[in-house]
Amino acid sequence: VQFDKMQQEEEKIVVSVRLRPLNAKEISKNDVSDWECINENTIIYRNGLSERSMYPNAYTFDRVFRSDCPTWQVYEEVAKEIALSVVSGINASIFAYGQTSSGKTYTMSGITEFAVKDIYDYVRKHGERDFVLRFSAMEIYNEAVRDLLSSDFTPLRLLDDPERGTVVDKLTEETLSDFSHLEELLSICEAQRQIGETTLNETSSRSHQILRLTVESSAREFVGNGNSSTLAASVDFVDLAGSERASQTLSAGARLKEGCHINRSLLTLGTIIRKLSKGRNGHIPYRDSKLTRILQSSLGGNAKTAIICTISPARSHVEQSRNTLSFANCAK
Ligand code: ADP
Ligand code: MG
Repeated sequence: VQFDKMQQEEEKIVVSVRLRPLNAKEISKNDVSDWECINENTIIYRNGLSERSMYPNAYTFDRVFRSDCPTWQVYEEVAKEIALSVVSGINASIFAYGQTSSGKTYTMSGITEFAVKDIYDYVRKHGERDFVLRFSAMEIYNEAVRDLLSSDFTPLRLLDDPERGTVVDKLTEETLSDFSHLEELLSICEAQRQIGETTLNETSSRSHQILRLTVESSAREFVGNGNSSTLAASVDFVDLAGSERASQTLSAGARLKEGCHINRSLLTLGTIIRKLSKGRNGHIPYRDSKLTRILQSSLGGNAKTAIICTISPARSHVEQSRNTLSFANCAK
């Protein structure tokens, strides 16, 4: 019984919600904060006007984070263990989901850095194994995959490899030397994203960004038949496109090709996460979008997943916040 329970817990997607503080723009418009985390698991909408509303006013998750909670704490509580499973050969993914300006990039950039630091710490403490860390970064915009470590904007193709699954053809993979190397690569990614915004007219709120860290290790001493001594896994840090696109494009019909694709990727991701949260059997439609094809190995199967849903506390954003919380509800 104990073992079954542990297995169930291990397979679950960890779903949390992070509330950010009101920002200057919201404050200047006399907007007010309507959401409150009343304990570690429950967030409530406390605008009295909606007491008789058709919507729930309390939502529970694995963890909810107040607006004054620092990113390191979010990391420690919902992402650290999952990210570190990569050193044991277990794939992982950590997502930020939410409307534009709710705090996805703020949250994911902090978490990525904390995770890589901890992975380096682990490597330093485990001299009995040889580790190789590799980093790659991509953006999915309008269902086109682009290498964020290259100045070449040509969309990359996805190939099916019989052993490795979906592979992004010609994607740059940098072998990480140390933590400062990661910081260097992250600033290249950021610059590439900005070039996309200025020269390709992209809007970062419409793109999905995936940062992938691959960890390979082998025992220094030859053990057994050698097979079990080699481990390899990846952890994906995913900063999703703004979730408002999904609802906006639904109401606007299929007018914008762009919105339509983002809608497709987010909807496919939503479908998959809903299916995974109900148990990992049956057909999972990974192939329905580029995002989910790329993430297939780090989402589902034996992989560990955390989703951090970010919301604005502002009354003016209540509709989007509720959309985000219902997505989060489906995922838990
Ligand atoms: P998104 O990526 O979802 O569009 P950002 O991460 O860019 O949103 O956040 C929008 C703004 O709000 C940024 O200026 C960011 O620094 C700020 N912000 C987001 N989350 C927090 C937080 N938890 N605490 C303080 N400031 C935050
Ligand atoms: Mg962002």
